[in-house]
Amino acid sequence: MTQSDVSIRPLLSRLGVSEAVLSAGNLNVRSPIDGANLAKLATHSVADVDTIVKQAQTAFLAWRSVPAPRRGELIRLFGEALRAEKEALGELVSYEAGKIRVEGLGEVQEMIDICDFAVGLSRQLYGLTIASERPGHRMLETWHPLGVVGVISAFNFPVAVWAWNAALAIVCGNPVVWKPSEKTPLTALACQALFERVLANFDGAPANLSQVVIGERDTGEALVDNPLVALVSATGSTRMGREVGPRVAQRFGRVLLELGGNNAVIVAPTADLDLAVRGILFAAVGTAGQRCTSTRRLIVHSSVREQLVARLKKAYAALPIGNPLTAGNLVGPLVDESAFKGMQSALASAREEGGVVFGGERVLADQFPNAFYVKPAIVEMKGQSATVRHETFAPILYVLSYDTIDEAIALQNDVPQGLSSAIFSNDLRETETFLSAVGSDCGIANVNIGTSGAEIGGAFGGEKETGGGRESGSDSWRAYMRRATNTINYSRELPLAQGIRFDV
Ligand code: NAD
Repeated sequence: MTQSDVSIRPLLSRLGVSEAVLSAGNLNVRSPIDGANLAKLATHSVADVDTIVKQAQTAFLAWRSVPAPRRGELIRLFGEALRAEKEALGELVSYEAGKIRVEGLGEVQEMIDICDFAVGLSRQLYGLTIASERPGHRMLETWHPLGVVGVISAFNFPVAVWAWNAALAIVCGNPVVWKPSEKTPLTALACQALFERVLANFDGAPANLSQVVIGERDTGEALVDNPLVALVSATGSTRMGREVGPRVAQRFGRVLLELGGNNAVIVAPTADLDLAVRGILFAAVGTAGQRCTSTRRLIVHSSVREQLVARLKKAYAALPIGNPLTAGNLVGPLVDESAFKGMQSALASAREEGGVVFGGERVLADQFPNAFYVKPAIVEMKGQSATVRHETFAPILYVLSYDTIDEAIALQNDVPQGLSSAIFSNDLRETETFLSAVGSDCGIANVNIGTSGAEIGGAFGGEKETGGGRESGSDSWRAYMRRATNTINYSRELPLAQGIRFDV
């Protein structure tokens, strides 16, 4: 037994995951911290997924009639349970996903925040009243629960993405079936156990309102293809979305895709470079560059390039890298060996394209022979090459120069992905242009803050190969409901719309 193996068992038991589950099957779960095997879980077959979705459908038939504010009360209580277990769940996120402690805790805080948001929302699922063109008629729009919501999530936000979906889906009257990443199923089992604990003490909620299915791609596909799953909300790579999107469309299901990003920061000549260095540093190396919103491209004005890159290199050289649970460390491990190989291969391609690489090498291999810690890399490129345009899920920051703001915006937009973007500038004309219709083409566009670390209040998601979905705040709840347009005639006549006469 290794260190991680020993330490997570009390955490799991506190969170309600039984010891027996941890050795019930063949899905190896390992910690990115030291490569230790944490569990061998049983997986769900296609037939199991079918049964679980049917159970969810039964839950739907009951839950859709529970008043929305009462549904909100369940989520309020779940938020309270998360508050009580924030430390334990946050630590488990660190063990399983390799995030530094503050980021693990931050992820649980994000779950709590979305629960709060969803509670308020449960009294605000508003429709419209619409002016009718006919006398004695009234038109309105009502929003109804949609049905079973399937959530497929990625390893890098092992719990928050589920909560973004589940909190909204449940107040909107839907049950949830969650397929977590095969790399992070333990945090999912812990969330499920916490939810069940709350559900058990709640009057009037059906069983199976939230369920988890464990497995790899085939388990996800079983969810994707099941006609009872009304909405598939899938977060992960563009490759995954390219497979999931058409499959759900084939059966006319609804899909919400949150896929890869290739996020850029523009730094203008008027930028506050102190802010820019701090903003870029957190966004480029936080979570070891494994956030969908991580800054991967720096587009800097040629007049400040040398100074900014020198300051970034100095900051990179001082980064404490190591065990994410040790206080003070800011960069934890990559998730696994294949992420490490992907990073090395991107750096090799960038070199072939004329890039000059700073950092990027493996460190701490003596201490952690089965884990993959790297120095985050800065790569000065001559242009936006094929390697730069591809999302490599690792801490690589490509540096490009520009001379005019139009050129900078064109570079920012000239990638297949469209998730997050930012500009550091104190020139109002530039910042407003960046936010305007001719500016950034991303779902998220920021001024004087980095590309990552979104708050839950806004709608989250992106354009182009990022998939077009929106989750979390603003009016994202509409994705989890179906809209009905109602026309009510309270007159004694039956006039037809558009003045059509149809009298016999
Ligand atoms: P991944 O695509 O390998 O896996 C994501 C999930 O999809 C896993 O649960 C996996 O089992 C499942 N899956 C894979 N193929 C499937 C298929 N054909 N059918 C059904 N399910 C399938 O992604 P990952 O490596 O876990 O995560 C990293 C990627 O996720 C990056 O590209 C990152 O940008 C992206 N991401 C995006 C967001 C966002 O909100 N836009 C958030 C987090 C991560």
